[in-house]
Amino acid sequence: MKTNPSPQHFKTLSALPETETMPFMFVGHGSPMNAITDNAFSRNWAAMGEQVPRPSAILCISAHWLTPGSTQVTAMDMPRTIHDFGGFPKKLFDQQYAAPGAPDYARKTIELIRKAEVIADYEWGLDHGTWSVLLKMFPKADVPVYQLSIDYAKEPRYHYELARDLNELRNKGVLILGSGNIVHNLRTINLDGTLYDWAIEFDQTMKSLMDTRDDAKVVDFLSLGTLAKLAHPTHDHFLPLIYALGLRTDRDHIEHFNDEVIAGSISMRSIIARPK
Ligand code: ZN
Repeated sequence: MKTNPSPQHFKTLSALPETETMPFMFVGHGSPMNAITDNAFSRNWAAMGEQVPRPSAILCISAHWLTPGSTQVTAMDMPRTIHDFGGFPKKLFDQQYAAPGAPDYARKTIELIRKAEVIADYEWGLDHGTWSVLLKMFPKADVPVYQLSIDYAKEPRYHYELARDLNELRNKGVLILGSGNIVHNLRTINLDGTLYDWAIEFDQTMKSLMDTRDDAKVVDFLSLGTLAKLAHPTHDHFLPLIYALGLRTDRDHIEHFNDEVIAGSISMRSIIARPK
């Protein structure tokens, strides 16, 4: 059942404490195995968790929660860990990320978003785009976590504009985390160490556009034609980056980390944006 909860179930908005402005991140999540692998990528996730101010809540926009035709926000007290993949070892399926949900923050998110009528969800939970990263970033699972879905029927610009409505959450202690990959072509994965020129070109193009704050060109990535189609046969993993960029204000300074293309056609490039 998907209905908006009545307001009395939530703290009033003013009851959510004001905080310093939180950073935001986009993380390239890559293989779900990163959740249980100690490598340079997952070590940097852990380092980021230690560097950022302790969040009141974490809002994740994951490439793995697509809801064409609507935008939804998880509003349950205890989100389940969703093992939304196949063909991996039992150890990965055994992982649980038992962070509480954040229904009061979900309610505030619904109120803040003017771009869409957002639906409260009580069925989803935390997909691996969220928990595979958070398991390393916040291993104690003691910060409430909720997710915002992606209306995959909408064009990229819509998501950029919707993200603007989320910015105020950063002053309520919410760490907003987009989780996808800047280059994501699973059809051309190759493990012999050779990287595709087009994968490097797309990754570098996006880096330059982000560094020169040319958000409009990032949002308009489909106009790159064949290059965009190679980097993203479907563009679900790119949209979380567009959410992240939509959050950026003039005060935010972006740093790149995990900036590496792997497996031929997966970019792990990630960004953290901190207010100056
Ligand atoms: Zn993924």
